[in-house]
Amino acid sequence: MQKQYDIAIIGAGPAGIATAVESLIFGLENIVLFEKTSNHSATIRKYFDDKKPVDRDWKGISVDLKGHIDFDDGTKDDTLNIFEKALKEHLLDAHFNTEVVKIEKAEKLFKVITATNESYLTSCLVIAIGKMGKPNKPEYDLPKTLKTKIQHNISDCKGDEEVLVVGGGDSAAEFAYFIHADNKVTFSYRKEELTRPNPKNRKNLLDAASKGGIEMKLGVDILGVEDVEGRCKVAFSDGSSHLYDRIIYALGGSTPTEFLSNTPVITDEKGKPVVDEKNYNSEGIYVAGDIAGSLGGSIALALNHGYNIMQDIINDRQACKERIALSK
Ligand SMILES: Cc1cc2nc3c(=O)[nH]c(=O)nc-3n(C[C@H](O)[C@H](O)[C@H](O)COP(=O)(O)OP(=O)(O)OC[C@H]3O[C@@H](n4cnc5c(N)ncnc54)[C@H](O)[C@@H]3O)c2cc1C
Repeated sequence: MQKQYDIAIIGAGPAGIATAVESLIFGLENIVLFEKTSNHSATIRKYFDDKKPVDRDWKGISVDLKGHIDFDDGTKDDTLNIFEKALKEHLLDAHFNTEVVKIEKAEKLFKVITATNESYLTSCLVIAIGKMGKPNKPEYDLPKTLKTKIQHNISDCKGDEEVLVVGGGDSAAEFAYFIHADNKVTFSYRKEELTRPNPKNRKNLLDAASKGGIEMKLGVDILGVEDVEGRCKVAFSDGSSHLYDRIIYALGGSTPTEFLSNTPVITDEKGKPVVDEKNYNSEGIYVAGDIAGSLGGSIALALNHGYNIMQDIINDRQACKERIALSK
């Protein structure tokens, strides 16, 4: 007979791992975690620079941690180690290289279907797939020929290049600051005022700019990008244009609406998941982490979502308890 789980968690980032750890601590052992990449925390691995200080109060939002995973300011490695340790200590049943592509209702259960067409039955679902699988792109078309020169992180910035960083938040400020010592960097944001980065990132960026290390182009839109002999020719709304070796777009991520449309998750008119303050979506379904919020999330918020979900299942949500009892 096919094995049935009490809870299937999709996505092994901070939210998915926290939900799994809290489940085990609160005595729910029959759980499984699916992760599409070969390791946990794909967003942190791919988008965090090695030099990046990981802020607990990301975007200046202070969060009181409620759960059992201890997370504080640290480096990228410190942060990955916290999740590595949590996975190992709790012997989580984690399936890596397992992308979930579809979820169907199967009477009182859910059928989780993977890209390789394997299927798993579960009573409850936690969707924690984040938003960075689909980083936001600008509205204008980007030349396909510049694919290797236009990116969403700085891992390919090896130095001695003219780089344009586009965005107005913490990630954009950090990216520009981290690469400015080895590259000629321009920071482009469509608004006049830089209000979104936290005080530390704002100060780093503006200090570097005041010393001439970063050129600031504020209050100017980008009208388009052209391929000129393998370089990125950028046309700005102030009438200027410039050739860059590389463009980094740090515009955040978007809700994976296509994935959600292949699941029983209830969404609003924009395709975003409907969630209450306990991360509950609909009978047997919870949504955690970045995709649960309309604004950008944070690691601390994702950890608290895992705790909220377990508290809700254990204490309040009778419908989930019944579903779990049914699968026994
Ligand atoms: C450049 C940058 C810097 C940041 N700096 C900070 C910081 O300093 N401090 C802070 O608190 N926050 C920071 N953040 C935000 C933080 O990374 C996120 O809030 C956090 O990672 C959200 O966790 P999550 O579990 O919701 O999603 P994610 O971390 O995105 O994890 C989702 C996981 O789900 C997996 N997945 C996706 N689709 C599927 C599928 N179909 N099947 C199976 N698995 C799937 C992904 O591979 C991934 O491992 C930063 C973000 C960026 C982009």
